[in-house]
Amino acid sequence: MPLALTRRALLLGAAATPVLAAQPGTAGLIEPHMRLADRPEPTVALTFDACDGRVDDRILSTLIALKVPATIFVSGIWLGRNPQAFRTLLDHPDLFEIGDHGAHHRMAVDRPVTLWGVHAAGSPAGIAAEVTGGAALLTAAGAPRPRWFRGAAALYTPEALAQVAGMGYRIAGFSLNGDGGASFGTAETARRIGAARPGDVVIAHVNQPLRPAGAGVAQGIRALAAAGMRFVRLSDPGVGVVAA
Ligand SMILES: [Zn+2]
Repeated sequence: MPLALTRRALLLGAAATPVLAAQPGTAGLIEPHMRLADRPEPTVALTFDACDGRVDDRILSTLIALKVPATIFVSGIWLGRNPQAFRTLLDHPDLFEIGDHGAHHRMAVDRPVTLWGVHAAGSPAGIAAEVTGGAALLTAAGAPRPRWFRGAAALYTPEALAQVAGMGYRIAGFSLNGDGGASFGTAETARRIGAARPGDVVIAHVNQPLRPAGAGVAQGIRALAAAGMRFVRLSDPGVGVVAA
């Protein structure tokens, strides 16, 4: 890995993890990984992407019932389709931080590519529109200005990472893939999230209510809470992140 890339990624608070060439088109893309900085008590950060689709109430109701805070990355598409669920997020400002997941759920990648059915923004101008457009939709709907951004598919070019950071956003990596893009089964998802270690930043999805993974997300959250794990949001006071 080029030193310049490593240094830039560290400045962004995320490790530059080259994506395995599992699918054509991923060459040169980066999946940022991060963990929480050391904390006195066992703590994890739960982050959820609301890409498109609907709301997974199995997860949302569990978070609310257990008073578990989380950071929810909302796209403009999901916001438009789920205004009632978005209102539920806003009604619990003590629990939910809302992050920017893009206006049209396009990857923050500055060249044309499509992965897993998700299109790239395709250019720096497209990335800017995705980031600022998403934030504008969130604030117009009543949310505070988002501080954190996570692009669709959580993949970036190095140039895109620098561009988004230069726009004043922090880029949300993760250390634990909880649900495999909502593709894992219930038991596998529950096991993975339930096994989160102190400092983990967990990624999962809150937009696939018909898939088995969401039931496992809810089970995993309950297991962590029962074990005494603390939960923080990415912008909570005193919360820091380090490259993972
Ligand atoms: Zn997404």
